[in-house]
Amino acid sequence: MLFVPFVPFVLFCGRFLWPSCIGPPGSHILRVKMRKTTFLKRKVREFSFIGRALASTRHPVLAHLIPMRRCNLACGYCNEYDHTSKPIDLEIIKSRLNKLADLGTSIVTISGGEPMMHPELDQIIHHIRVRGMIAGLISNGYYFTPDRIKRLNKAGLEYLQISIDNVEPDEVSRKSLRVLDKKLRYLSEHADFHVNINSVIGGGIKNPDDALTVARRAVELGFSTTVGVIHDVDGTLKALSVKEKDIFQQVKKLGNKDHARLNWFQDSIAEGKPYNWRCRAGARYLYICEEGLVHWCSQQRGYPGIPLEQYTMEDFDREYKTEKWCAPTCTLQCVHQVGILDNWRDPQKTPAQMAEEQKSGVGDMIGAD
Ligand code: SF4
Ligand code: SF4
Repeated sequence: MLFVPFVPFVLFCGRFLWPSCIGPPGSHILRVKMRKTTFLKRKVREFSFIGRALASTRHPVLAHLIPMRRCNLACGYCNEYDHTSKPIDLEIIKSRLNKLADLGTSIVTISGGEPMMHPELDQIIHHIRVRGMIAGLISNGYYFTPDRIKRLNKAGLEYLQISIDNVEPDEVSRKSLRVLDKKLRYLSEHADFHVNINSVIGGGIKNPDDALTVARRAVELGFSTTVGVIHDVDGTLKALSVKEKDIFQQVKKLGNKDHARLNWFQDSIAEGKPYNWRCRAGARYLYICEEGLVHWCSQQRGYPGIPLEQYTMEDFDREYKTEKWCAPTCTLQCVHQVGILDNWRDPQKTPAQMAEEQKSGVGDMIGAD
C-alpha cells in the first residue's frame, strides 16, 4: 500500500473498539466479555513489546511482509502492485517469518498488493502468532465477508488497517466509502481484532472533505481512525493546499489523540516543511518484498536489497546507524512511529561517513597485518 499510515504500531495508540451492532442480547454479553478478554491480553502483549523495544535497540520492531504483489485495484498514486503475479508459496513465507522471529521481530504486518488475495493468508497469520509475534494486516477491504472475518479471528489476526480514499469511486481510487460501507458493517459486527480506518489527503485525491466523512463513519462504527498524507510517486513530501490542511486538522481531532501526538511530524508534512528525525529502516523497521529481499521501505526498494535469509545483525547495525537521505521529506507514518523509540539515542552517520569508517576499519586491519 502506498500511503502507509498504518497502525500496526498501535502499540502506542490502540483504542478499544466497541462494535455498534453485535447480535442478539445473549450473544451480545458473551461477545462483549470475549472481546474484553482479548483486548486485555493484547494490551499486556503490547506493553511487554514496548518495554522490550525501549530496553534494547538490537531487534526489529516492525516488519512489513509482502506475500503477493497482485492487487484487484489500480489506485492512481500506487507503485506497489501488479495484476499478474502469483502468491508466494506458504512454506517460503513461513521460512521468512521464522527468520524474522529469529531476529527478534515484534510485529509483522502483512501487506501487498492486496494480501487478502493470497489463498493461504490464514495460515500465514497463524504462523506469525505461533512464532510469538503480533499479527497485523493492511487491506483495501474488498474481500471481507462475515465468514472471512471469522476465519481471520480464528487465525489470530490482531490488527487490521483499511485505508479509504474517497466517498465515491473515481479514476484515482476505488477504495471508496460507498463501495466499502457494507464491509465495514461486517467488520463492526464480527471482527475480534482491532480495526483502524485511515482516511487520506493529498496525492491527487479530488475532494478533501471526503476524509472527514470517512473518519466520521469510522467513529460511528466504533473503529479507530487516523489520517495520512498520501505521498508523491517517489514517496516524498508534497505540500497540502489551505483547504486540505484545514480538513487534515479536523480529521486529526476526530482520531486517536495518542496517535495524533505521536504523529507530530504530520504537521510539518501538511506545511510542506522538511523535519529532523532518525529513520531506522533496515534495522528497527524492515520491508520484505515478495522476492524475500530486505529493503528500507516500500519507497526505497533496492536499499540494501539483501535476501532476508542472509540478513545478519551486522546488516542491522549498519542500517541502524546510517542516516537516510530521504528522511527530511518522508511521509511513511509507520517508520516514523518506530523511529520514535530511538530518536533520542544513537545519532546516525551519513553513508559517506559510514563508508569512510569501514575503509579505515579495513585500513587498520591491513596496518595491523
Ligand atoms: S489497493 Fe492495490 S493499487 Fe490501491 S494502494 Fe493498495 S496495493 Fe496499491
Ligand atoms: S526516510 Fe526511511 S522510511 Fe522514509 S522513504 Fe527514506 S528510507 Fe523510507
